[in-house]
Amino acid sequence: MPAFPAAIPSPSASTGASAMLRLLNRPEPGVVSLVGAGPGDPELLTLKALRALQEADVVIHDRLAPTAVLDRARAEARRIYVGKRRGEHSVPQEEIAALMVAEARAGRRVVRLKGGDPFVFGRGGEELEAVRAAGIEVDVVPGITAALGCAAAAGIPLTHRDQAQAVTFVTAETRAGGTGPDWASLSAANHTLAIYMGVAGAAAVQAGLLEGGRAADTPVAVIENGSRPDQRIVTGRLDGLARLIAREKVVSPALLIVGEVAAWAQSQAVVQEAAA
Ligand code: SAH
Repeated sequence: MPAFPAAIPSPSASTGASAMLRLLNRPEPGVVSLVGAGPGDPELLTLKALRALQEADVVIHDRLAPTAVLDRARAEARRIYVGKRRGEHSVPQEEIAALMVAEARAGRRVVRLKGGDPFVFGRGGEELEAVRAAGIEVDVVPGITAALGCAAAAGIPLTHRDQAQAVTFVTAETRAGGTGPDWASLSAANHTLAIYMGVAGAAAVQAGLLEGGRAADTPVAVIENGSRPDQRIVTGRLDGLARLIAREKVVSPALLIVGEVAAWAQSQAVVQEAAA
């Protein structure tokens, strides 16, 4: 006879037959995994992420999860898109959390697939909190964050003994009503900045860093669709960053790398900034 699943207590004097029946009819609660999908190249998935995808009943994803990664999920897994496309609203964060909880309560193995790493500018913390608060088991599978994937793809060492003793991951986007990053405090030489969500705010990034004292000729590299087949890398200098992005019509997702090390950027797709 098969053993009782661990979650179901064996009958005892205090558990009547009807209570037992209720327990047996109720599905065992599922689990939620917050899984880092990496920057796009499916070969940059961790083995753990791949296993979670192959065991999933449901995969909840947004626009940063490329098809090549989603294709690695179990064929029968239901895919639920919760991201936004241009001009459309994304599913509010509370609804995503409610969806994860509802699917897990129905006994399903839920993968919440997030671009890059779930805990780097991915609101993974909020999702973890919401699922935990609902009493659902949740685990986190790290992923290769855009800064690491894009730097590797462009051949840019984020740190370098001579050129960068520090690297900072920073977002250029600010929450409505919130304060932006303190660019002045990030303007020291030999400090690499990996700037997420920086396409729209490139002019503010450029102005903030120059005002903070960063040298005008500091190399910059912009990596669009890093690690994907349509990857493109454009390079220039800090005082031409916004112009470069506008001229090359850089689209999201793109990562900006500012710092001496950006001079290392190399790829067949590199477009050098034309002399001003
Ligand atoms: N959690 C993700 C980041 C989400 S924020 C991570 O760890 O990578 C979204 C931003 O990430 C984008 O605006 C862009 O700046 C960056 N990004 C994500 N994937 C990228 C890619 N393949 N190439 C370039 N930038 C990327």
